[in-house]
Amino acid sequence: GACISACPVNAITAGDNTFKFLRDLSTPNKVVITQMAPAIRVTIGEAFGFEAGTNVENKLAAGLRKLGVDYVFDTTWAADLTIMEEAAELQERLEKYFAGDDSVKLPILTSCCPAWVKFIEQNYADMLDVPSTTKSPMQMFATVAKDIWAKEHGMERDRIISVAIMPCIAKKYEASRPEFSRGLNYDVDYVITTRELIKIFEDSGIDLKTIEEEEIDQVMGEYTGAGVIFGRTGGVIEAATRTALEKMTGKKVENIEFDCLRGWDSFRSCELEVGDIKLKIGVTYGLREAAKMLDKIRAGEEFYHAIEIMACNGGCVGGGGQPKARKRQETLQKRAEGLNAIDRSLPLRRSNENPAVLAIYDKYLDYPLSHKAHELLHTKYFVRAKNSND
Ligand code: SF4
Repeated sequence: GACISACPVNAITAGDNTFKFLRDLSTPNKVVITQMAPAIRVTIGEAFGFEAGTNVENKLAAGLRKLGVDYVFDTTWAADLTIMEEAAELQERLEKYFAGDDSVKLPILTSCCPAWVKFIEQNYADMLDVPSTTKSPMQMFATVAKDIWAKEHGMERDRIISVAIMPCIAKKYEASRPEFSRGLNYDVDYVITTRELIKIFEDSGIDLKTIEEEEIDQVMGEYTGAGVIFGRTGGVIEAATRTALEKMTGKKVENIEFDCLRGWDSFRSCELEVGDIKLKIGVTYGLREAAKMLDKIRAGEEFYHAIEIMACNGGCVGGGGQPKARKRQETLQKRAEGLNAIDRSLPLRRSNENPAVLAIYDKYLDYPLSHKAHELLHTKYFVRAKNSND
């Protein structure tokens, strides 16, 4: 990392990694790499005079480089990789189920929200085979960065400082789970929230409004429309369904904006019909609504093939580390619309079309759910005591 002069020490609160980040940026032999969650690009601009929902990813890339970050990558790339694994799991479970195998566990639950994963570990110990075992995009990115990318570049794991810019505090907790480390070396060294990064930029005199745009680094920066909608409610399951249905029907599904998965109700049920396949999908956000959905499933009152649960209002656009919004609902919707606009503007909108993701399978991982993919890209869940803080 290069040196910077800012020192916003008086702004630091518990769990804030600002100081570590500034220290690492000024340590000469460390290589600092960042990833940024899909939802960051449509929210951080609000602090610099942009309308909510404006995509400022290239300004963000420029700002991070100015701070001294060596490589600016994108979690969205790993969101596409997550979908390759999660869609394959969905397809595998569905094909068994449709073939009459009643040992198969349904619904499958998307597993990228750590607040929700912890909640299910604490409160639904009998349902730990519901979440997909696919790691979250943040953790997937970090594994690939330290176990594949670093090796390709001739670097030891511990020379790399892997920093994740994330919409919430729960991601700090996720990064500290021991299964995501090698001894004391964690795949994600630490997490910086959107608001913490805003403060760092402000204290360093970096104004996203005026800074010249720069490109995000490749290859872990290339993404499709499916990856970017992860940041709003319904987006993860929409992305997974786009790929799974294409694989299951053997045909390109043309209309990939699944309207029934979209919307702002915190408890939504959607019946999706593509070709001969009929799926019932549930989407919720907020822990209370989500618990209601799981209770209904557990009691056999509702059946879903797949469900998406996010802890925050509207998904990660409403994360606890995001800029505070005055007109909350309106702002959240603009942020989500910003992600939808990016999705619509991209030539590639299915994760299975991402060339940088396909290349990593070719070179290292073989195919989704292969032995190698399982080793690197999947995780386990643990029963935890209620209200435990571990
Ligand atoms: Fe974090 Fe909230 Fe997104 Fe869950 S929904 S990953 S808690 S911002």
